[in-house]
Amino acid sequence: MKSIVIANLSWNNKGWKESVINPKANHSYATNYPGHESLNFDFNKKIDICNVVHGYVETSGKQFKQYENGGIFIFYSNNTDDNIGQIIGIYGNVETLNQKIKMTHNDFENNTLWSNIKADKNLSILFPIYLKSDKYKKYNDNKRLAGQIGFSYYEDKNLVEEIIFDEIKLLLQSNRNYANEIQTLKKIYRYYIGEEFDYDNIEQQEILAEIETLPNLEDDETELITIKQKTYKRNNILIAKIKRDRNFECQICATKILKSNGSYYIEAAHIKAKKDKGNETKENILILCPNHHKEFDFGKREVLKHTTNSIKFKLNGVEYELSL
Ligand SMILES: [Zn+2]
Repeated sequence: MKSIVIANLSWNNKGWKESVINPKANHSYATNYPGHESLNFDFNKKIDICNVVHGYVETSGKQFKQYENGGIFIFYSNNTDDNIGQIIGIYGNVETLNQKIKMTHNDFENNTLWSNIKADKNLSILFPIYLKSDKYKKYNDNKRLAGQIGFSYYEDKNLVEEIIFDEIKLLLQSNRNYANEIQTLKKIYRYYIGEEFDYDNIEQQEILAEIETLPNLEDDETELITIKQKTYKRNNILIAKIKRDRNFECQICATKILKSNGSYYIEAAHIKAKKDKGNETKENILILCPNHHKEFDFGKREVLKHTTNSIKFKLNGVEYELSL
């Protein structure tokens, strides 16, 4: 598995694109000079040619020994203006440097800016909206995600999935157009998780974790529904409920796919396609494994009988009768 690191950056109210001296910092160096991480998200430094961006992480003497190149660095910072921990960005496909690189740059101590990591610019992003980090403490026994100075290793891919999903969700719900940033986040997801980002599926999983607390939605027509300060797509609530009611099993072959986080992966197939105005109702959804989903969508299909409780159809010459 590719390494996951959460690294602490000292707070920079200019968004790590300009050097800033932070008088509220906790160590004396940072109250006199900008930290070398000040320019981590300035992607146009002289040294950042082609698709490479150079950055700095304070190691406080410890080296990146456990780290395997190609991993991901998630940047955490304690916002000293508001006193909250935040996730502020990501570097993807990171290589740690055994020898620090020295760059000439004004403002820094001895006019020198140091770099000890480099990453793929196309897989790196400063989050347009920072995420509150408390939500992710569960991945670290409820402790803060990275030490005061330095960084921590993590092994749970779900942490990466959750952070990327949460950021994309915030950007989608914002009034501004963040299409480019969302593309970058999807690229990081594909690089790191190894599959295409599927918003609906991830949201359905999140809903399943809280499904007992969700209200009945039969007569609600709004597209987004807010429950306990979290906003979900109405359709994803409906599909999550159908998946649970049908026990996460393929209705054709009974396959159940267990994921490493203990949940089940299963897909929802529309009988009448979405583009033909097919709805997310129990009469119009089949719960299928990925193979049968593709066969259902692309195979030769003939519906013989369709009621509110069942469907009888022929698929590539085989006849099925399934409950709805
Ligand atoms: Zn199947």
